Amino acid sequence: MIGNPLGRIARSLLILVSVLSLIACEGQAPSSGEDAKPTVTVYSSRKEHLVKPLFDRYTAKTGVEIRYITDSAGPLIARLAAEGSNTPADVLMTVDAGNLWQATEQNLLRPLTSQTLNSNIPEHLRSANNDWFGLSIRARTIVYATDRVQASELSTYENLADPAWLGRLCLRTSKKVYNQSLVATMISTLGEADAESVVSGWVANFSTDPFSSDTTMMEAIEAGQCDLGIANTYYFGRMKKADPNLKLALFWPNQNDRGVHINISGAGVTKHAKQAQAAQELLEWLSGPEAQGQLAELNQEYPANPLIKPSATVQAWGEFKADDINVEVAGRLQAAAVRLMDRADYR
Ligand code: FE
Repeated sequence: MIGNPLGRIARSLLILVSVLSLIACEGQAPSSGEDAKPTVTVYSSRKEHLVKPLFDRYTAKTGVEIRYITDSAGPLIARLAAEGSNTPADVLMTVDAGNLWQATEQNLLRPLTSQTLNSNIPEHLRSANNDWFGLSIRARTIVYATDRVQASELSTYENLADPAWLGRLCLRTSKKVYNQSLVATMISTLGEADAESVVSGWVANFSTDPFSSDTTMMEAIEAGQCDLGIANTYYFGRMKKADPNLKLALFWPNQNDRGVHINISGAGVTKHAKQAQAAQELLEWLSGPEAQGQLAELNQEYPANPLIKPSATVQAWGEFKADDINVEVAGRLQAAAVRLMDRADYR
């Protein structure tokens, strides 16, 4: 039978099949074996210095290696979408519910069933289907020049539209997702018409064109180009750290109604994660007591886990009532917010 060509073909096929199954075995994740630890791959729009200390700590504790690349949220989400099932990414980590919502919309994340995440992260700081979870909170609040504005003159975001602030207001560009999220939550709470008249009032009060960053905006306030604006607290924290004599202060608006606008940094496990279980365990650890304090402190943010206190520096800025609207609204009404700001001539 050896000489039979059909037999030779059958034997070659058999060999080929065994070689292929070997390759398949080799390609599989090392799930068996006591020392075999998975490597989790993270796409992060958070800068390296904000994530590496935590990843290093997690690796030291668990032996799970974390590979990561950092880029802006838009390119990372586009890359995930383009890579599809071939993506090496197990986790997407980014800032702003508006960005995470975009990832959900493109079906790039997977819903998680995690008692740990559900109990560590309040419901308003995660998506409705649990495919992303807030890991830190940032407050977007009023910043004012202490030599030109009294705290007693301030009250709400809406009040910044009052003619009393004519020629005195600075804002960052409406292109930034932070402002789109702020306006989206205002649409949800005030209704579209009222939100629009507030934004139009802001624009009428501008002392100059919108700024490219919260920091350049605050520098303009400090320099006297305008008297107040709206910024994320950690940017204020950075400036204050660099210059303890900074003549700027934070004000917590809307304390008699909905509270200060907050947003999140957060993460989800990708739909095509090869290490979904290990990725979920990383997220669970990031939401817990060991990581939450450091995660928030690295960028002077607030822990998303309500049981963990912010750093002493952040606590010194004072307590405030935060808007507990579900941050998912920032995504759902993002397009409406962009259109509204365009109509209001907010560039
Ligand atoms: Fe930021």
